[in-house]
Amino acid sequence: MVTSIIRPLASQLQRHLVQAIKSPRITPVRRCNLTACSSKFVLSKVHPIWQGPLAVPGGDCQSPIDIVVRKSVFDSKLKPLVTNYDPKSCQQIWNNGYSFLVEYDDSTDKSTLKGGPLQETFRLCQFHFHWGECNSWGSEHTVDRRLFPAELHLVHWNAEKYSQFEDALVEDNGLAVIGVFLKIGKRHEGLQKLVDALPAIRHRDSVVEFTHFDPACLLPPNITEYWTYHGSLTTPPLTEAVTWMVMKQHIEVSHDQLAVFRSLLFTAAEEEVQKSMVNNFRETQPLRGRTVRSSFTPFIKDSALDEVKEHSH
Ligand SMILES: [Zn+2]
Repeated sequence: MVTSIIRPLASQLQRHLVQAIKSPRITPVRRCNLTACSSKFVLSKVHPIWQGPLAVPGGDCQSPIDIVVRKSVFDSKLKPLVTNYDPKSCQQIWNNGYSFLVEYDDSTDKSTLKGGPLQETFRLCQFHFHWGECNSWGSEHTVDRRLFPAELHLVHWNAEKYSQFEDALVEDNGLAVIGVFLKIGKRHEGLQKLVDALPAIRHRDSVVEFTHFDPACLLPPNITEYWTYHGSLTTPPLTEAVTWMVMKQHIEVSHDQLAVFRSLLFTAAEEEVQKSMVNNFRETQPLRGRTVRSSFTPFIKDSALDEVKEHSH
C-alpha cells in the first residue's frame, strides 16, 4: 500500500528535479563572460547522452584534457602523419542528436591514416565537430586553459588489428582521432559544401546522402606539428581506446558558418520543445600522470604559445 503511494510521489519528485536541473538555460543574448563559462558545464551534462548509466567515466585515461604546452614532452621520434583520404568513400551526414557525423565507407582501406605515433594503418569512419553557443567556447581540448569556438574530430579505427569498428572501440590501440581547433576568421571554402547540406539534417535522426567530400580539406596546412596522448572517447561509452593527435595549427571558419552548426537541433521533429545543438562537448578530464608528447619543440619562436596569445581576446 505504502509503496503504491510513495512510488508515484518519488517519480513525480524525480521529474521535478530533472526539470529543475534543465530549466536554467543560458539565453543566447547573455554576454560571454566567466559566469556564463562556468554554466556551460551544467548545460553539457543535462543532454540525454550524459544521463545513462554508461556515462559514468571509468578509468584514469579520460578525454578531453587541457594541454599544458610547457609540460608537453618533445619526442623527436614522432613522424609526420600520413593521410590518404578518398573523397569517393564519403557516404552520408547524420544528425545523431548530439552532433552531426559525416560518415565514410570503411569496409576496405579507402581512406586511411598512418604514421605519427601510430604503428598500424587506421581507417577513417566518420568526422564530426563539437561547438559552443557562442564563440568563446566549444572545443573539447584546451591549450593552456584557452578554449576555441569549435573542434573537429576525425575518427579512425585500427583495421590491421580489428575486423570492425565495434571491436576496435573497446580494445587497446583501437582508435586514432585527429583533433583540429576551429577559430573564427575568414570563410572556409572547403567546409562550405558541408554547411550547405546541414539544413537537410536539422532534426535528430535525419540522414542525407553526402558524397565526394575530401576530409583533408579540413586539416590545417601543417599537420607535422601536433600533440599526442592516450585517452578516451569523449562521448559514452568513453572507452580508453584512443590515440589522440591534436593539431597545433587551427583552421579558420566564419561566424556565419558556425551559426549554421548552431541552427541544428538536438531534438527530433516530433518533439514539442526544440533544443538548439550547442555546447555539445565534454569538460576536460584530469591528466592523472599521463604524458602529452609533442612532435615539435614548444620553445622555439612561432610556438603554440604565440598562437594561443593571438587567440585570447
Ligand atoms: Zn568528438
